[in-house]
Amino acid sequence: MQKELGIQEQVFGGEHHTGRAARPLWTAMKRGLLGRCPNCGEGKLFRGFTKTVETCSVCGEEIHHHRADDLPAYLVIVIVGHIVLGAFMGVEATSDLSTWQHIAIWVPLTILLSVALLQPVKGAVIGLQWAFYMHGFGGEKDGTETHHGA
Ligand SMILES: [Zn+2]
Repeated sequence: MQKELGIQEQVFGGEHHTGRAARPLWTAMKRGLLGRCPNCGEGKLFRGFTKTVETCSVCGEEIHHHRADDLPAYLVIVIVGHIVLGAFMGVEATSDLSTWQHIAIWVPLTILLSVALLQPVKGAVIGLQWAFYMHGFGGEKDGTETHHGA
């Protein structure tokens, strides 16, 4: 006995009520992570270290809608904090380095990791916002957020 259960596949980012196609969240985030356009995966996402392009040079997707703001920085702090703190505690417990030796290792490592992660994390955040049609990515005017002022 088989019965149609009518379970719909859950598609993240899908907005069936608006008729807009679901955008693949993980694909978009992965493309952003690699510094690529979330829409086509070909065009460059950044034209500076953390400065994004206005539009994708390959598919023309408008990138400037993103509102990543400080979120990438917060995420990087959380990620790097866990990596460095965990590594520090591991080394601390298994070696007898001096305080200065610890500082010489962990301070540069923290800075290097933060710099290395900032662009990929920002790209992933933009990919997420794009996939969810957040801000202006859905094509409508983004007029609900006024906290930025002017
Ligand atoms: Zn593109």
